[in-house]
Amino acid sequence: MKRILTGLKPTGDLTLGNYIGAIKQMTKMQDEYESYIFVADLHALTVPQNPIELKKRIRAFIAMYIACGIDPKKNTIYIQSDIEYIPSISWILECSTYYGEASRMIQFKEKSKENANFSVGLLTYPVLMAADILYADTDLVPVGIDQKQHVELARDIAIRFNKKYGEIFKVPEPLITKSGTKIKDLKDPTKKMSKSDENPAGVISLFDDIKIIRKKIMSATTDSEMNIIYDEEKKPGISNLINIVVSLTGKSINEVETMFKGKNYGEFKSYVADLVVEVIGNIQEKYNKLVNSKELDSILDEGAKKASALAYKKYQTMREKVGVVR
Ligand code: AMP
Repeated sequence: MKRILTGLKPTGDLTLGNYIGAIKQMTKMQDEYESYIFVADLHALTVPQNPIELKKRIRAFIAMYIACGIDPKKNTIYIQSDIEYIPSISWILECSTYYGEASRMIQFKEKSKENANFSVGLLTYPVLMAADILYADTDLVPVGIDQKQHVELARDIAIRFNKKYGEIFKVPEPLITKSGTKIKDLKDPTKKMSKSDENPAGVISLFDDIKIIRKKIMSATTDSEMNIIYDEEKKPGISNLINIVVSLTGKSINEVETMFKGKNYGEFKSYVADLVVEVIGNIQEKYNKLVNSKELDSILDEGAKKASALAYKKYQTMREKVGVVR
């Protein structure tokens, strides 16, 4: 079975868009691959963080992924900073990475423009990402197109290192994920529902109170017509709600249109609200049981133990090869 590895940066919120577009896809992949999933908390430090908030969010993120169906029995789940040898591996890799290579990363170029006082970590985090990937002999890294360049850097570093010191690393491949349906903002259905949106009225957070979720859906922007028909151009609001139903139930667009023939927008929205509330309600129930439980700690301890053993082994091999041993 091929090994895949996914890092989750614990920043911002988790939305219905993340659930439909990414997390649900991950729950399918866990049956096809041996999968490693970790909270990339060290990556969050490239920009300033509130320590109390960050600590809370690390636990919340991983508990929410598990509540959404990421199965601890099928996945190795851990917190990046629990794996002590990863930064050491990263350091050796940094010394095998050219400054020119790192500074050519598109994300670095863009993000360093946003704030003149950016950290060195913003430049070097793709190498930390290479360490995250390479220590575990990862075959495939599922990434959106925006992260593809970083996986390519990890490949380049692995190939260079192997050439110089022998076959130490498996050379990983990016797995460009076919993202699920794009869920749009409920208030402005021409743009993506995004966790960084300033107006929370259009964004459903997986952590939102159920009553608020219902309210947000009932006041979603639609159009002045009366028919429930899928037309992304002319009826982006209704089409978005249809997409949500299709994604959560597996019904076809046609089936949804037929179900609501002759019904009004209020009835349709009420159906969508019931559906989303049921799905997120069930997720939240699991989340609430898990987030402060010993069970979550056991899952993370077990994952950390397994990942640490691999990282330790890889680091010792690297030390030998580069000559930093007693
Ligand atoms: P982000 O939260 O933007 O970092 O995205 C994390 C993952 O969730 C990516 O795989 C996105 O494609 C997916 N995602 C985020 N927002 C949406 C959305 N509104 N609809 C569908 N997928 C989304």
